[in-house]
Amino acid sequence: MGARALPFGVGAGGRWSPVGCRMNSCLLRLRLPPVLFLFLLLLATPGARAAGYETCPEVQPDMLNVHLVAHTHDDVGWLKTVDQYYYGIKNDVQHAGVQYILDSVICALLAEPTRRFVYVEMAFFSRWWHQQTNATQEIVRNLVRQGRLEFANGGWVMNDEAATHYGAIVDQMTLGLRFLEDTFGSDGRPRVAWHIDPFGHSREQASLFAQMGFDGFFFGRLDYQDKLVRKKRQEMEQVWRASASLKPPTADLFTGVLPNNYNPPEGFCWDMLCADRPVVDDPHSPEYNAKELVSNFLQLATAQGQYYRTNHTVMTMGSDFQYENANMWFKNLDKLIQLVNMQVSVSALWDLCCRSLATSFLSLEQQQANGSRVNVLYSTPACYLWELNKANLTWSVKEDDFFPYADGPHMFWTGYFSSRPALKRYERLSYNFLQVCNQLEALVGPAANVGPYGYGDSAPLNEAMAVLQHHDAVTGTSRQHVADDYARQLSVGWGPCEVLLSNALAKLSGSKQSFSFCRDLNVSICPLSQTSAQFQVIVYNPLGRKVDQMVRLPVREGVYLVKDPRNKTVPSRVVELPSSGNPELLFPALVPALGFSIYSVSQVSVQSPKARRLHSRPQKPRSPVLSIKNEHLRATFHPDTGFLRTIEVLDRKLTLPVSQAFFWYNASTGDQQSDQASGAYIFRPSQPKPIPVSHWAQTHVVKTDLVQEVHQNFSAWCSQVVRLYPGQRHLELEWTVGPIPVGDKWGKEVISRFDTPLRTLGFFYTDSNGREILERRRDYRPSWDLNQTEPVAGNYYPVSSRIYITDGKMQLTVLTDRSQGGSSLRDGSLELMVHRRLLKDDNRGVGEALLESGSGVWVRGRHLVLLDTASEAAAGHRLLAEKELLAPQVVLTLGRGRSYHRRAAPRKQFSGLSRELPPSVHLLTLARWGPDALLLRLEHQFAQEEGSSRNLSSPVTLDMRDLFSTFTIVHLQETTLAANQLRARASRLKWTPDTGPISHPTVPRLDPASITLQPMEIRTFVASVQWKEDS
Ligand SMILES: [Zn+2]
Repeated sequence: MGARALPFGVGAGGRWSPVGCRMNSCLLRLRLPPVLFLFLLLLATPGARAAGYETCPEVQPDMLNVHLVAHTHDDVGWLKTVDQYYYGIKNDVQHAGVQYILDSVICALLAEPTRRFVYVEMAFFSRWWHQQTNATQEIVRNLVRQGRLEFANGGWVMNDEAATHYGAIVDQMTLGLRFLEDTFGSDGRPRVAWHIDPFGHSREQASLFAQMGFDGFFFGRLDYQDKLVRKKRQEMEQVWRASASLKPPTADLFTGVLPNNYNPPEGFCWDMLCADRPVVDDPHSPEYNAKELVSNFLQLATAQGQYYRTNHTVMTMGSDFQYENANMWFKNLDKLIQLVNMQVSVSALWDLCCRSLATSFLSLEQQQANGSRVNVLYSTPACYLWELNKANLTWSVKEDDFFPYADGPHMFWTGYFSSRPALKRYERLSYNFLQVCNQLEALVGPAANVGPYGYGDSAPLNEAMAVLQHHDAVTGTSRQHVADDYARQLSVGWGPCEVLLSNALAKLSGSKQSFSFCRDLNVSICPLSQTSAQFQVIVYNPLGRKVDQMVRLPVREGVYLVKDPRNKTVPSRVVELPSSGNPELLFPALVPALGFSIYSVSQVSVQSPKARRLHSRPQKPRSPVLSIKNEHLRATFHPDTGFLRTIEVLDRKLTLPVSQAFFWYNASTGDQQSDQASGAYIFRPSQPKPIPVSHWAQTHVVKTDLVQEVHQNFSAWCSQVVRLYPGQRHLELEWTVGPIPVGDKWGKEVISRFDTPLRTLGFFYTDSNGREILERRRDYRPSWDLNQTEPVAGNYYPVSSRIYITDGKMQLTVLTDRSQGGSSLRDGSLELMVHRRLLKDDNRGVGEALLESGSGVWVRGRHLVLLDTASEAAAGHRLLAEKELLAPQVVLTLGRGRSYHRRAAPRKQFSGLSRELPPSVHLLTLARWGPDALLLRLEHQFAQEEGSSRNLSSPVTLDMRDLFSTFTIVHLQETTLAANQLRARASRLKWTPDTGPISHPTVPRLDPASITLQPMEIRTFVASVQWKEDS
């Protein structure tokens, strides 16, 4: 039988399936419950229920209600690859097979109508769904409709919150939620966000969940000190106010901490992967334990209930890859529920008839009275949340985030902010390429999918990118072979996008060419430009504004002539890289908004005249002051060390001494205080002071009219180019680190550190998933009185895109090209961890040292450094970060193409916009959504009070009519952030924060001629469009 074979014995004539579920009885039950269920529902649920909560079970208002949530946590890759987990391959590494879990759970749900189950990861569920028969799909639809199979979260994966960028989070949630909406409609729409495993929680994630329309959010991991305080204060559940800019309740999200991460209470794990004793309720059996189990359960429930404010508490009955034999779990839970609630009934009767007669039997009475207070039931995250909402309480408000996460005094999960930096960069670069692919698919329409180069498609890269957001993927916390598989998935995804780009560029340029995509430009490899004397360079700009960009391509030695789209010569230079001796051609390109410019390059001489070649003589330190400058900036270097010494902003008359160098922390392998080692998750230096990679750098200087560079060589495995192009207001530091030597048996965690005299008083600032900025303070947490036990690792925070320090007058900002960990460990200082290589596992399950196989990995990256007045700084870093994230895409051709379609002359310049977007507006999404539909997201990329003299924080209004040049918007509908609900029809549960009541504004009528964005607002639209013939 093939992949679409009958599942768990459908039609097999009553044969028992391996999990003991007889399909005949499954189908019989399927016919009965809907009517019966509705009938029971009508009996059991007086009063109205909010949409989506109609199917929730009955609770006991005067008792402690224990909501049992049967669930499985299915990592989309970790110790095994995604496919190995799905099919149950390599069970010797970890016993886990998701296809069997879903088979088994559906069967167990059908066996008993009170049972419920929650499922989360759409990467797995959608795959399973497509392998089922129509009959099974219908069974599952019914279970979903009845609320017995509930989806929580519903993203493609349960994404990480530290190493992820908000754009990619929104994309992966959109993909998963769309599958649910298309498959189950509103019945399958998750009400609750569910991040039970990610290692710390970002404020931006909560803000995005709120904007997606979630009613609440539950998670498992938070700092152990924070958790103790919250239990004491009964603050395990709060309202999280997750934006400093968006008007409440837009980014308010009810948030609950689960009592035991996501595991069952001790002694109550009844999976085949657990060793706890099952319920034995036969009093004649020598193994009888029901009474003892019930007594333990009641104690646990009562103790746990004390930390929460309502008469409801939740227990997560499941864990990693559990329920492969769902019958084991459910059979024991059935018994537990029956036994506990039976005790309740007996106790209630006792209360009614006999209590006064029995006061002398104290011990008996106490036991039963205890029992009488507890009601236990199969529930779901949404049904638990619904009861909390009905409690109608006023909740305290949280405004910071849950970073960093520690599960013990020397166990800070701050290493994964930087683990596997090459994979982190590949993920970010793939985000850039996916957006280019999405945009061209939207701008060109069907001709981008089916064209002269074959079938082009953005879907495979979209799915691969979604997988990469998983909390063991981009985090760098998977096994090596799984990390390799993540990279493979990205690489496979790039292919159909390259076909799509070829189709689209042929259509838009009117010329059929052989397009070449140089995937290895970061290491200066591009076969076409390195072997051809003549070629064309297409530069595509995914931003909503024109951009100027210095193009750099590896070429053969010689002199080149570069012409712009209007056939005018533009300045160009061939420079030789001192490190490799490879020549690179540089020329400035100007590219229109959401469009391209085509430059033609031809070699005019094979010999480079001496005068045109670079001075790249090694310069010893102790030579005269080294400096590079352009019209805005000057950077000087220390004559003794070769390190960066000052940055001057000439037109603002700012000068700041800035010393920058590389250091490494010696990774702890455990010590007397704790045996905790530094590993893929955990950062734990053996001593707080880092060791310099070198006390000086050998330098080379490169000065031409198109670039000025200082090449610094710190050691055999650490070098850097400090670079200034004309017109740039930032300094570019391109670092190359690795393979990190570990022959001395010392694990090393390498940082780039900037030291300045700025008086920063312990404060520094980091972004949250690349969007809003959070204030950080050394050795301090806003939520509780911190006992700092790790002075370095305990002050590390995730940096997705930027970190800065300021004295209130001047601000030094560093932008990153990927996620890294960062901190400010001394006033005026700022550091970022660029690479790490470790010899021990940190004992969090991955079971491998972060060695990155073989001789280790060689990593190159960029830090963009901005110096400005504090009031003007945001204008610089917001726009530069946008440009760094969505950099122009370079595509090469030999330029000998035939004309395509009927266009007379090929087009050498194109813009997909009829007018540029204002600087405060970021085009977050432009993608195909259906045969005639596009998904569009517009974002105000400035926060409140960031705009300075340029007023960039003011609300901005756009006219969407005729905004795009290749299609006409026929109809526009606004949706919630993940595009799974119409905004006008979406409603969320209302919560009362203790900061006072908030008004819930009505959604104004949508007018495409006047779309207003408030600071940090994202608006999402589904547009029906008609593509223009001549585009
Ligand atoms: Zn996990």
